[in-house]
Amino acid sequence: MPIKKSLGQHFLVEPYYQRRIVESVAPRADETIIEIGPGQGALTALLVASGARIIAIELDRELIGSLMARFGSRENFRLIAADALTVDFCQEITPAASARVVANLPYYISTPILQRLIKQRRCLSEMTLMLQREVVERIIARPSSKEYGYLSVLVQFYCEAQRLFNVPPGAFRPAPKVDSSVVRLRVRTQPAVAVADEEFFFELVKALFAQRRKTILNNLRVAALRLDLGDEERIRCALASAGLEAQRRAETLSLEEIAPLAAAFTRDS
Ligand code: SAM
Repeated sequence: MPIKKSLGQHFLVEPYYQRRIVESVAPRADETIIEIGPGQGALTALLVASGARIIAIELDRELIGSLMARFGSRENFRLIAADALTVDFCQEITPAASARVVANLPYYISTPILQRLIKQRRCLSEMTLMLQREVVERIIARPSSKEYGYLSVLVQFYCEAQRLFNVPPGAFRPAPKVDSSVVRLRVRTQPAVAVADEEFFFELVKALFAQRRKTILNNLRVAALRLDLGDEERIRCALASAGLEAQRRAETLSLEEIAPLAAAFTRDS
């Protein structure tokens, strides 16, 4: 079957890494696991063998036939032929209320998939994801590192993120041009910091990081009209009340520092 590069098809062929991923998930027979992009079934076979209820979502119709031939008779396996970006995970896992996710993700959609998983976090407790190593570095980055940015804040706000291990290009067919890493995201029961209006908080984060070389004051000035932040004086006041110097760069701000800034703007709007 021809490989579809447009669907990010890099199949994990090294049994050592297939096993390592599934062992780090340690599926239990009484739980539901969603696999995004089962491909040729490398991880699926180990997941199905664990006895857990597996719901696999694959977009490539040409792979559906062989996946069904291989696993279709297994009672604990269900295949959804669809785009994972449009699937309602919470609905698909019923009667289960919660599931874990495993995926060797197509890298071309890793950020939108992450955003979608986070949006549906009320029914997802944990995700074990193979991603481009550089994306994992951005996810787990701490403030004051060059990888720290919007994605770090987004994921760390909702999840505890831990890199499990790296995977070299040679473990895949065809080999990707980039290194890969497996990351575990545990969905927090409460966001990492208390925020009154999450939508505004993330709009503010986006604005703060819009131009990395600019100070936070300058980035906020640019976004002032769109986010209704007020004039420069009000922005300076909000920064001061959050205890932040106007000349700082967003990449130095922790979640614990951004939350009071959002609160300062929402308090008196
Ligand atoms: N899990 C397999 C493995 O580890 O060898 C395949 C991984 S491959 C990197 C990504 C898989 O995701 C491919 O099978 C591809 O067809 C599938 N895929 C790509 N885009 C998708 C989407 N939007 N929704 C669901 N599956 C998708």
